[in-house]
Amino acid sequence: MTAIPANPVTPALPAASTPLIHHPYRAPEGFLAPQLPIYQASTVIFPHLKALRSRDWRERDGYTYGLHGTPSTFTLESRLATLEGGEHCTLAPSGLSAIAHVNLALLSHGDEVLLPSNAYGPSLALAKGELAQFGITHKVYDPLDLSSLKSLFTERTRLVWLEAAGSVTMEFPDLKAMTALCKTHGVLSALDNTWGAGLAFNPFDCGVDVSVHALTKYPSGGGDVLMGSIVTRDSVLALQIKLSHMRLGTGVSGHDVAAILKGLPSLALRYTQQDRSARAVAAYLKGQAGVVQLLHPAFEDSPGHAHWRNHCVNEAQPQGLAAGIFSVVFRPSIVLARVDAFCEGLKLFKLGYSWGGPMSLVVPYELVSLRGTQPSGLLPGHLVRFCIGLEDPQDLIADLESALLGVDHFS
Ligand SMILES: *Cc1c(COP(=O)(O)O)cnc(C)c1O
Repeated sequence: MTAIPANPVTPALPAASTPLIHHPYRAPEGFLAPQLPIYQASTVIFPHLKALRSRDWRERDGYTYGLHGTPSTFTLESRLATLEGGEHCTLAPSGLSAIAHVNLALLSHGDEVLLPSNAYGPSLALAKGELAQFGITHKVYDPLDLSSLKSLFTERTRLVWLEAAGSVTMEFPDLKAMTALCKTHGVLSALDNTWGAGLAFNPFDCGVDVSVHALTKYPSGGGDVLMGSIVTRDSVLALQIKLSHMRLGTGVSGHDVAAILKGLPSLALRYTQQDRSARAVAAYLKGQAGVVQLLHPAFEDSPGHAHWRNHCVNEAQPQGLAAGIFSVVFRPSIVLARVDAFCEGLKLFKLGYSWGGPMSLVVPYELVSLRGTQPSGLLPGHLVRFCIGLEDPQDLIADLESALLGVDHFS
């Protein structure tokens, strides 16, 4: 071999560089393991030009480009469609981006969208921001008042957003009656199904056209991944969403998909355990002197409890199912600084947004300043939201007890 003279301008590549890219090793055909390998691609290789020219990303039997699907995304999409009782699923990089995607795919200039007054905050902010910029107007209805929704329909109404239950004030609406009302007006309904997670009730059997799920919450379960999904039963609607997804380019990472896939087998176990723990902790707080109202749809005097029973209780699930999240209203005479001191006095409950993860979380909300008015069905006072993690509920109750005792004049 002739020695190549040293050249300071074009340094030689290490000899191993090409074999690092073109390596003959192939994973054995019959390799099977509980978890799918992580498939990652921007480029997908075609065997010949005929395949490159004829393959259609809409047919899920072939791959064209990473953004249009990999074995990882197709697997998660089909499992989520099964979980929620739908047929088609599209992934988005966060729950909020899934909500935004539905709006962008289904609404045009001049359309109007209706949102519940307890809507996930950033969803309302999107309506006030970008949707308004694009000439899409919105109106807000009371989720506990069917006539309030009914009174808002016009010929411009194109989409109604639903949440069951609301993620801060926890009202459970009459979902079936609301979707029926949408159908009689020829209007699409989209549910933010993060709370039900595909377990507490079947959104499509309740008449919903589109179900959006923040996979960030229960399906991830780790508090470490952001992702969202859009599920439909209708293939025309699904294609409209998929085409828009193709144009907007909101893809997800194969590693994040793998993390969600890893969470799915334990989803039902975690959901039911967090439900049980949350009901135990909520029952404890309900009995405390400073608490004037408990907001948890499985408790009798919580707003929308009858609707929760009607949608989430059945023969297979006589106690019904609910997410491990609830709020309490502390007496208005308690000084706000004391409510803050109580939240900061908790040791196991951490201060932070989100839910469905391993750690219990707490966030105080000043609702009147947040929404501009006192929500109907809610007593005045200071609202604090609790998200129950996977800790022993007795330890959580002990933590609450000592934080309550640690603040003077708290009852
Ligand atoms: C968290 C959440 C979202 C948004 O999910 P991200 O992944 O955080 O964007 C949407 N809706 C509800 C009800 C949520 O709790």
